[in-house]
Amino acid sequence: MRKKIVAGNWKMNKTLPEGIQLAEEVNEKVKALQVPEVKVILGTPFIHLAEVSKIVDPAIISISAQNCATEASGAYTGEISAAMVASTGSTHVILGHSERRSYYGETDAILVKKVAQALANQLEIIFCIGEVLAEREAGKHFEVVKSQLENGLFQLSPEEFSHIILAYEPVWAIGTGKTATSAQAQEMHAFIRKVLTEKYGKEIAENTSILYGGSCNAKNADELFSNPDVDGGLIGGASLKAEDFSLIIAAR
Ligand code: PEP
Repeated sequence: MRKKIVAGNWKMNKTLPEGIQLAEEVNEKVKALQVPEVKVILGTPFIHLAEVSKIVDPAIISISAQNCATEASGAYTGEISAAMVASTGSTHVILGHSERRSYYGETDAILVKKVAQALANQLEIIFCIGEVLAEREAGKHFEVVKSQLENGLFQLSPEEFSHIILAYEPVWAIGTGKTATSAQAQEMHAFIRKVLTEKYGKEIAENTSILYGGSCNAKNADELFSNPDVDGGLIGGASLKAEDFSLIIAAR
């Protein structure tokens, strides 16, 4: 059975001391919540990974990078490889976030290379997909999401695909305070599971966690997570305060 997952994406927020403090606070809150049925992940900036990995209890919190390089090593100034991420004690990496797709030109072809690097270094991948507002308004959202899956992930074998967590993040809902309705989220998540069933079969589709992301907060998490195909959330803004994040972790 797939587990509920609540993953924070800190983006480019928090200095190292601030990040350490936040990780300590989240660790305490998650310990007190006693929710072994929820997998909690912190997606921190690269420079925080090693420190935060030492602070949190790995039995209750996993650590994730927010990106990795397309190449294994070498003359790529400023890049961080998947092997480097793994060597910090991190177990996950977020790939394909809409901010990376739109601000840094990450295409499906680039993502295929990053996915391969992450898997070669035993990282679990939180792979983000989602349409922009114009695509939803044109009724193309299902088509867009299907093509992101096909072009970014469907080169993977069934075994490789078992290391993928999907995050459906309608771009128009990210950081805007505009959440997809519970019905819109469930409709898209069920569609994604159908596409996965067609490609990989029912067992893999049923075992794949599909998170919702986009202005998810302590007030709307309960309703969003109550949908049968919504297996938790990828949380941006509301992951920056331990209290808000822990209320989302506690949401059913
Ligand atoms: C995100 O960027 O992954 C995200 C979901 O952001 P927010 O929660 O701030 O909308």
